[in-house]
Amino acid sequence: MNGGEAAGTGAVIDPLCHPVTDALGDLLATVRRIDPAGELADYIPELARVDANGFGIAATATSGHSYAAGDADRLFTIQSVSKPFVYALALEALGREAVLERVGVEPSGEPFNAISFDQIGRPANPMINAGAIVATSLIPAADAEERFAVIRAGLSAFAGRPLDLAHDVYESESATGDRNRGLAHLARASGMLGSTVADAVEPYFQQCSLLVDTGDLAMMAATLANGGEHPLTGERVVAEAVARDVLSVMASCGMYDRSGDWMFRVGMPAKSGVGGGIVAVTPGQYGIGVYSPPLDSAGNSSRGVAALQLLSAEFGLHMLDRPRESVSAVESIRTDAATGAITVEVRGEIDFVAAEQIVYAAMEAVGGDGSGTHTGTETAALVIDLGSATRATPVAARLMRAMAGDAGTRGYRISVRDPAGILVP
Ligand code: GLU
Repeated sequence: MNGGEAAGTGAVIDPLCHPVTDALGDLLATVRRIDPAGELADYIPELARVDANGFGIAATATSGHSYAAGDADRLFTIQSVSKPFVYALALEALGREAVLERVGVEPSGEPFNAISFDQIGRPANPMINAGAIVATSLIPAADAEERFAVIRAGLSAFAGRPLDLAHDVYESESATGDRNRGLAHLARASGMLGSTVADAVEPYFQQCSLLVDTGDLAMMAATLANGGEHPLTGERVVAEAVARDVLSVMASCGMYDRSGDWMFRVGMPAKSGVGGGIVAVTPGQYGIGVYSPPLDSAGNSSRGVAALQLLSAEFGLHMLDRPRESVSAVESIRTDAATGAITVEVRGEIDFVAAEQIVYAAMEAVGGDGSGTHTGTETAALVIDLGSATRATPVAARLMRAMAGDAGTRGYRISVRDPAGILVP
C-alpha cells in the first residue's frame, strides 16, 4: 500500500495508524460477526482451494491517499473484475460507437455465464462473459499473445504496477472453458466477435487469471474515479469520457443478476468476480477494493457485499444521496452605495451548476425580470469579477456571455473582469 502524504506539509502520514484505517478494520470485524453465508467457487480446483477466511479491504482517494485493513495484501485472481478495465481499453482503442455496435450496455439481469444476446445477436451486457469476451476480442492485436500483452499492460497501468499471471489458474480456465468458447462462437456467428474464437477466449482466460490484491483493486478503481488518470503515477490510462462510460456500465450492470439490488442498497458503480474480489467507485472521490472468497448465490463475494453495504450506509457513500450544500461559486455581491454599481465576485471552477448560481445572483441583483430597481434608460454598472475564478466549462462560459448580453439589453452596463480570459470561447 502506498502511504498518504499530508497536502502542503510534506509530512508522511502512516496509513496504518490513521482513523480511516481503524474504521475500515471495525467494518471488517462487524461483517465477520454478521457472518453472511457463502460458498467458494469450485468450477476449477484453484479457486476451491483458497483460504475461505481471507478478508481484506482497501480504499484509495483520487488524491492518492490509501488505507487498508485485514488481508489487504493477499493475492487472488481478478476474474470478472477485469471486465470493466478491458472494456475501458476497448472503448479507448475503438471509440464508443464502434464498441456499441458489438456489445450493448443493458443490464441483462442474468448470471455471469448466461447465453445473453439481444435481437441482433449482440451481447447485451459487457460485464458478464458473453459481452466481456467480445470486448476482449475488440482489443487491437495481431494474435492472442499480443492481445493479452496489451491487456496485461493496460490493467497494470490502471493498478500502477506490473500484474502477474497465475499460470495454473489460466490452464484450468482454458481446460474447462467450453461454455465460454460456446459464447464466443455464438458472438462470432452473429458477426460481433472481433477475432477468431481462440484469439478472444485465451486472452480472456488470461485476463481473468491476473493476480491482484485489494490495494491493486482500490488503485484501479481510483483511476476510474479520477477520470482515467492514475492518482499516483499520473499516467492517463484512458480518456475521461471513457472512464465515465465504464462507470455508467458498472452502475447498471456490474453485479451480475443483483445489479438492481446493488444500486438500491449500495449505490456505487461496482464489479465483482468469482475470485472473491469487488471493486467499487465513488466518482471523483474513492476507489475501493474488497476481497473475501465465499460467494453468494449470484456469484458475488458475500462478505464483500455486506462490507460495501455497511460502508455505503456508515460513510454516506450512496451516489444518489442528496448532495450536501457545496460552496457557492458566488463569493460576494456588493452594491456601491454612491454609484449603484454592483459587483458579483466569483470564485473557483465555473461549471454548469456554478454558472446557474452566478447568473441567478446577477439577474436578481439587476432585477432580471424587468421589475428591478434599475429600468428603462437608466444605466447602472454590473461587474462580474472573475479574478478568483479558475476555469469555466464551455456551457458555463456560454451562459455567462448570454447573461451579459441579456443584461445589456436591459440597460445595464455589464462588464466582466476576466483577467485570465476564462470566458473566451
Ligand atoms: N473466469 C470466469 C469465467 O469466465 C470468470 C467468471 C466471473 O468472475 O464472473 O467463467
